[in-house]
Amino acid sequence: MGLLSLGTPLTWEEAKPHADLVRERGIEQLLNIWKKAKSKERDILLWGDEIEYLVVSYDEDSKDARLSLRQAEILKDLAHDEELRKAGGCVPSLQEINQKPGQRVPTFHAEYGRFMLEATPGAPYGGMLRDLLTVEPDMKKRRVIAKQHMTKNETPITMTSFPRLGVPEAFTQPYYPPHGPIARSIFVPDEIINPHIRFPTLTANIRSRRGSKVCINLPIFYDEKTPNPFKDPTVQYDLSDYPEDEDVRNGAAKDGHVYMDAMGFGMGSCCLQITFQAKNISEARTLYDQLCPLGPIMLALSAASPIFKGYLTDIDCRWNIISGAVDDRTEEERGLKPLNENKYVIPKSRYDSVSTYISQDPGFRPEYNDVNIHQNLPLKEKLLDGGMDEPLAKHFAHLFIRDPLVIFSESIKNYSVDNNDNFENIQSTNWQHMRFKPPPSAEDAIGWRVEFRSMEVQLTDFENAAFSIFIVLLTRTILSYGLNFYIPISKVTENMETAHRRDAVLSEKFYFRKQVFPPRHANRSGKGSNASPGGSISSTPKPVELGPVENEYCLMTINEIMNGQDGQDGFPGLITLIESYLNSVNVDVETRCELARYLDLIRKRSNGTWETAATWIRNFVRGHPDYEKDSRVNSAVNYDLIKAAEVLGNSEGKGTSLWKGLFEKR
Ligand code: ADP
Ligand code: MG
Ligand code: MG
Ligand code: MG
Repeated sequence: MGLLSLGTPLTWEEAKPHADLVRERGIEQLLNIWKKAKSKERDILLWGDEIEYLVVSYDEDSKDARLSLRQAEILKDLAHDEELRKAGGCVPSLQEINQKPGQRVPTFHAEYGRFMLEATPGAPYGGMLRDLLTVEPDMKKRRVIAKQHMTKNETPITMTSFPRLGVPEAFTQPYYPPHGPIARSIFVPDEIINPHIRFPTLTANIRSRRGSKVCINLPIFYDEKTPNPFKDPTVQYDLSDYPEDEDVRNGAAKDGHVYMDAMGFGMGSCCLQITFQAKNISEARTLYDQLCPLGPIMLALSAASPIFKGYLTDIDCRWNIISGAVDDRTEEERGLKPLNENKYVIPKSRYDSVSTYISQDPGFRPEYNDVNIHQNLPLKEKLLDGGMDEPLAKHFAHLFIRDPLVIFSESIKNYSVDNNDNFENIQSTNWQHMRFKPPPSAEDAIGWRVEFRSMEVQLTDFENAAFSIFIVLLTRTILSYGLNFYIPISKVTENMETAHRRDAVLSEKFYFRKQVFPPRHANRSGKGSNASPGGSISSTPKPVELGPVENEYCLMTINEIMNGQDGQDGFPGLITLIESYLNSVNVDVETRCELARYLDLIRKRSNGTWETAATWIRNFVRGHPDYEKDSRVNSAVNYDLIKAAEVLGNSEGKGTSLWKGLFEKR
């Protein structure tokens, strides 16, 4: 859970002198937790998803769909649900829902955008395969409950990015003019930021630390009538009240690109995240590493955000927009000026792909950590002195090169080594595509967890459930067969870039490991190295000769990664591996059939039978009679798109005919 403590936040200038103190205390708190919790053992899997929603508000007179800024009121209403229910208020069916035995009451959380909500299942799901069948109903229930706490013209939708965030016309309800003192954006008002003091402070301090506004340029999607070269006509040059506006005059907005200048463009996007608890720290480290190469693959497969600031862009995913939107690196750190005030040139934003593996599994080779990363060496020494091993100390020492962005003066005064606030300050503002989550405190019942963070939220709960379930089943399969997906970490970074390209899921190839079974499975009975598991396994592992790392991986399509390659030596495909795992465990027929339905979505999304949401949205716009073929998504097109997304989101049934009809490749 993010840090939402209340108090007096410091401006960046005030916070800066305390940065080392916060980091030192953070490491002390981490070491305290690690020492006491490193031998924690628990044998069951617990896991949960997080789904983020946009709250849209329709204006039926002008046929416009805008972002509702009523997050706080909706959350308040949700929090007082019990009272409302007793008073016969607007949520009688919550009572009904709660009466069903064994069902959880979802939890709703605030998010960065004042037009966003986040919902989690309330209590984590258990480790039984049958529990997976409760995921989609739980997600549907959350959508229903959220809607019940909104006005008649508001609705929650699970669309990754709101197409018209930042257009020069009204895009919020109520309307506010852009250009507030916090983000200083020329496109969005500060009123889109969650007013909880943490969020405006985070926004302002990122800008102050960086020394300029954040800067995001997305390549435009050139359509028939798009002016070529495209010069973003929404960029104003005559604004002069903030020094940051010099950026625009000095060419921050690139030709051929859609230019954005505020944290809200990134952190206002919605995603689907999954957190698992591992049975112990070592299993958590294994899962962290093994899922890491899957991050970019699942990003491309879940691609759902082709439109930003009212334009069709040439990318399909949100990730890099958020990366740019919270990039607090100074010019020195970005390598634009010689180092003087700062310590390091840092190649990545705080929000970026993982740069180092952490497990000590036998399948790991040092060559996989092929990127030299900066580490906070004095703090690493403390971790090593405290007994932590090198790879884990390296991971945390890397996170701790960053500054704390929001410091509350109270937290400086009230320090306890038994809390985790200073640790979380740094940890939770390092937004990498995997997160290794230690127990919140040494005494806590919660164990070591791993979060998978790259996926885009899907328009329907059927898809959101399918993606969540796929990842959970993959973790079971990885652990059951001891699978090894390692590739050099630099290739994961490269894959992350590839994943953004338009229609990457069908048009691009990704680096992926060829031989994923542990050595004892390899070359069984003289067969191909990738023959599927399940047969007799030799008990004496053969000594393995390690060839060059470059021979271990190759470029594959996502279809090959998911559904397998032809030929005996070909990669079997992740779905094949999962099915083989399911065949090896005791699972009732109903569960097996239901799970097959979810796996089928992943299969068909990978082989192109079904489109990604990004493709569906792009085609929807391009096929709309009011679209002028100039890449612009006007309010009429947007209104119909949002309505269609709402219909999809509320569609009943199991991958209904409506859903199929819309997503079937045309
Ligand atoms: P954050 O925003 O920090 O990633 P959230 O609290 O929003 O975290 O979501 C965490 C997810 O982890 C939720 O889906 C929740 O159900 C799940 N979860 C909670 N406790 C555990 C646990 N002990 N093990 C695994 N997952 C858990
Ligand atoms: Mg959350
Ligand atoms: Mg969230
Ligand atoms: Mg999360």
